[in-house]
Amino acid sequence: PRLHVEQDLVPGAVLPLERAQANYLLNVLRRGPDDPVLLFNGRDGEWRAALAQSGRKSASLVVQEATRPQTPRADLHYLFAPLKSARLDYLAQKAVEMGAGTIRPVFTRFTQGERLNVERLRANTVEAAEQCGILSLPEIQEAVRLPVALADLAPERLLVFCDEDAALSDPIAALRGAADPASPPPLAVLVGPEGGFSAEERALISARPNTVALSLGPRILRADTAAVAVLALVQSVLGD
Ligand code: SAM
Repeated sequence: PRLHVEQDLVPGAVLPLERAQANYLLNVLRRGPDDPVLLFNGRDGEWRAALAQSGRKSASLVVQEATRPQTPRADLHYLFAPLKSARLDYLAQKAVEMGAGTIRPVFTRFTQGERLNVERLRANTVEAAEQCGILSLPEIQEAVRLPVALADLAPERLLVFCDEDAALSDPIAALRGAADPASPPPLAVLVGPEGGFSAEERALISARPNTVALSLGPRILRADTAAVAVLALVQSVLGD
């Protein structure tokens, strides 16, 4: 298993585990003292640690040796309109698994999600990072309204806007037409809420230079489905 910890990772460091983490390792994964655990903190790369059990529900980890050097956070920005909590959990995890290094909730006219629970969002990104093997936690940017999110994007960042009303063109050709795969620009992806973007919002997004509206096919996808589809597509065509 891989665990994200806050502490510095140096040989010999003893890290007491929180009860939930100890319970997960000892009783859910049924790991014993000889089973290695991999740790990362977003700064020091990945380290192997030994599990030192000190009770049925308490344990600590003894840091042993580095297994992978630190890698920087991915540069892909994922902008999304919050969804209802269960789907938002799923979307946050998929965005991280699919390579988003920065995620930003964007409030739009038809955003349905109730008050955004940023702590829950953070917990989902940590869980996804542990599961998919990245060494840097994604940055969760402050939730803002659409105009602010667009203005905050660096002009050179290509914005891929998922638009179910866009012409049914070849998405790969559309991406290749917007950027040179040989030297891809920094990227951002924008997916709307379950209620879709308003006409004004579409106009605002399309008015931004360096923006490509992408159709993901003739069917209406749920926002979290669109997230996985577009992130996979963008990275397969323009991933660095
Ligand atoms: N306008 C949709 C409708 O008529 O039901 C509602 C929006 S859809 C459920 C949620 C979001 O997923 C959209 O705002 C868009 O960003 C993305 N999306 C869904 N289907 C898509 C498609 N075929 N092509 C591109 N984006 C799509």
